[in-house]
Amino acid sequence: MTDDVIELTKQLIERVSITPEDAGCQELMADILSPLGFNIESLVFDDTTNMWARKGTQSPVFCFAGHTDVVPTGDLSLWHTPPFDPVVHNGMLYGRGAADMKGSLAAMLAATVKFVNQHPDHQGSISYLITSDEEGPFINGTTRVIDTLEARNEKIDYCIVGEPSSSHLVGDVVKNGRRGSISGELTVKGKQGHVAYPDHVKNPIHLAMPALAELSQTHWDHGNEYFPETSFQLTNIESGTGATNVVPGHLVAWFNLRYSTELSDQKIVNKVTEILNSHQLDFDIKWTYNGKPFITEPGVLLNGVTNAIKKVTNREAILSTSGGTSDGRFIAPTGAEVLELGPCNATIHQINESVSCDDLVNLVEIYYQSLVNILCPK
Ligand SMILES: [Zn+2]
Repeated sequence: MTDDVIELTKQLIERVSITPEDAGCQELMADILSPLGFNIESLVFDDTTNMWARKGTQSPVFCFAGHTDVVPTGDLSLWHTPPFDPVVHNGMLYGRGAADMKGSLAAMLAATVKFVNQHPDHQGSISYLITSDEEGPFINGTTRVIDTLEARNEKIDYCIVGEPSSSHLVGDVVKNGRRGSISGELTVKGKQGHVAYPDHVKNPIHLAMPALAELSQTHWDHGNEYFPETSFQLTNIESGTGATNVVPGHLVAWFNLRYSTELSDQKIVNKVTEILNSHQLDFDIKWTYNGKPFITEPGVLLNGVTNAIKKVTNREAILSTSGGTSDGRFIAPTGAEVLELGPCNATIHQINESVSCDDLVNLVEIYYQSLVNILCPK
């Protein structure tokens, strides 16, 4: 077993773990953690493989969270090198998952090996919550592991999710929260008929347009210290039969809101419903609740991690809540402090995904120093 972060990242990339496959990644991780004294639990739910590993029985419980799955490669002919044959070129390591997030997993492991060897008498516990379905439907992954932990009253206090949070150099950005996400599928009902007989039809496009215009121009909130203002976006509209002489019977519009901690799912549902009612529409909405917003304020975790970044790289991390959702949304509601810190995200989910080798080496030190700051307080 190696604790060299580049070599470990390569070994993980070689395992073809497209969602929901784990392809032996977690076994490789367990082989490194077991000899350090970690108790390993493999939690398989349907097609998803999860791992909960813990060393120690005391509080506080520090957790490294992440995923072994990767997104599909897309057109193989566009890759300069095969996506599952990792190669280093000009200081960059190329391969699917290099940045999202096998590099982070390798850095967590290397940091843990160093920390356990150098601080065998540390406080609290160290744990790993790893899933193979973060990039997929997120039904049988982190959320199920959290359910399992909650059922036996096992709590995470501090959690670093290894998602690629950085912009230019590792540690320049830490995500200390995420916006909430809610989607709606709106059906506006009309009455179909011949375009030449307007008295006999109710045109759902005409009925829906003023309401959609109002929704798209509504100010939902002003955001706050940590969040930009909430954004409403229409993503798809469908209506019509394709014929130019038929008024359609209904219109379907899909929309999504990314929202701040100033709002809640319920407030959004109420306001959308109120606006649609004010336009006297006959409508249905199917809602999808993708995740509530969360924020981690300055405290043991945030201070421990930003001080670690400062010590290792001399950088002042910028705090951000931008970007899509992550599995942090399932961990934060348990009361845990949650941050996302990983390498640069410029190439994630793209062809020729890559990560800087220097950044990975620094990430090991940042994770290591974070463990020292949090589990070995002076
Ligand atoms: Zn990811």
